[in-house]
Amino acid sequence: MRQENLFTETQKQFKEIADILNLEPEIIRQLEEPQRLIKFQIPVKMDNGKIKIFYGFRAQHNNVLGPYKGGIRFHPKVSEDEVKALSIMMTWKCALVNLPFGGGKGGVIVEPKELSEKELERISRGYVRGVFPWIGPEVDIPAPDINTNPKIMAWMVDEYSKLKGEDSPAAFTGKPLEVWGLEGREEATGYGGAVILEKLKEKFNLNPKETTLAIQGFGNVGSNFARFAFQKGFKIIALSEDVGGIYAEAGLNPEKVLECREEKGEIAGCYCVGSVCDTNFGKQISNEQLLEMDVDILVPAAVENVITEENAPKIRAKYIIEMANGPITAGAEKILEKRGILSVPDILANAGGVAASYFEWLQSKQKEKWQKERTLNELSEILGKAFDEVWELSQKEEIKFKQAAYLSAIGRVVKAMKD
Ligand code: NAD
Repeated sequence: MRQENLFTETQKQFKEIADILNLEPEIIRQLEEPQRLIKFQIPVKMDNGKIKIFYGFRAQHNNVLGPYKGGIRFHPKVSEDEVKALSIMMTWKCALVNLPFGGGKGGVIVEPKELSEKELERISRGYVRGVFPWIGPEVDIPAPDINTNPKIMAWMVDEYSKLKGEDSPAAFTGKPLEVWGLEGREEATGYGGAVILEKLKEKFNLNPKETTLAIQGFGNVGSNFARFAFQKGFKIIALSEDVGGIYAEAGLNPEKVLECREEKGEIAGCYCVGSVCDTNFGKQISNEQLLEMDVDILVPAAVENVITEENAPKIRAKYIIEMANGPITAGAEKILEKRGILSVPDILANAGGVAASYFEWLQSKQKEKWQKERTLNELSEILGKAFDEVWELSQKEEIKFKQAAYLSAIGRVVKAMKD
């Protein structure tokens, strides 16, 4: 259900902009679905000696601006529709922040928690054998996504290089530092979100100390976003993970919450204010409560479709920064817009990840090592510029910020197609 919805939502979003741009039917036809979808079997010898067949996908949406780019996820709920939707989002994201990439996404239907390390390695290498003819540094460059990580990318790039017969570090991004990974990639998405936060501060004259934030999701994106927002002086009063969240009126210290979670295994009870963690500071909340809290800025940084037509009327934040992919349904967005809530779309807010992947691709090709400082400076530049362009377009056309972002991204892709 989750995946089918996401594809329909993504198409709805595109068609709305297609209407505004008055796109020709043949352009719509080309952009409403991926150019190519690869579905393949991955036979894997399990540790018990038996062969098990897994199913893999790679969706390649559009490559008019450059090679397809996008992650590979390992999850039991991966489906054709899910990778198709996510590949479309990748096209818009790369276009919006002006990267020379198109959109792709891949996945394997698998519960990685049930696999041994050796089985995981065989699936990863099997995935590469399945898509080998359609990927490469100038064709389609995969990266990590849900349940895939630098180690898996190292196996994948090794398998690719073997099949190709040459060292090809630029065929994948999100690799470990030792094999042309990028310093700063880990925190890039969260950092990019903090650049957007800084822009909101500038445009709306926000005083960080008095600006409250609630962040849903405390994984890579949520926790890094929280760390950078905290460093900038913003007041984070609620944080959550899949099993629930925490609230502290005095403001949480995410560094301390991370340390506390490391110890306890979950954030429940980690009410860390200043340098002290004490249960007297806060209380436990549900994910639903977090979304509906009376805060200035709400940051969904966990999963898709969490703000729906049902809870949109109850959202009390003034601004939403979409750090997760697709956290607001199209119907919910309409309600938020009517209520005057500004949302910064995922294709801008979380584009720091793919922008850093671009830097990694460049350094892998040029065999040059970037320092973290350079990565973060370039991210500020790219995302800051993209924010300003969208802001100006929304002012000039008198349209909502989110709509302006899609208009800019899709307009750029269509222009390249026509050119
Ligand atoms: P992650 O697996 O590191 O963390 C996900 C977090 O969300 C965890 O804290 C988990 O407990 C929480 N969570 C899971 N299900 C939840 C639910 N139903 N309700 C509330 N919380 C829930 O993942 P991540 O890399 O941080 O990615 C988060 C989102 O950001 C995803 O939508 C992903 O596609 C998107 N994204 C990630 C990157 C990146 O560089 N990692 C880049 C762009 C977009």
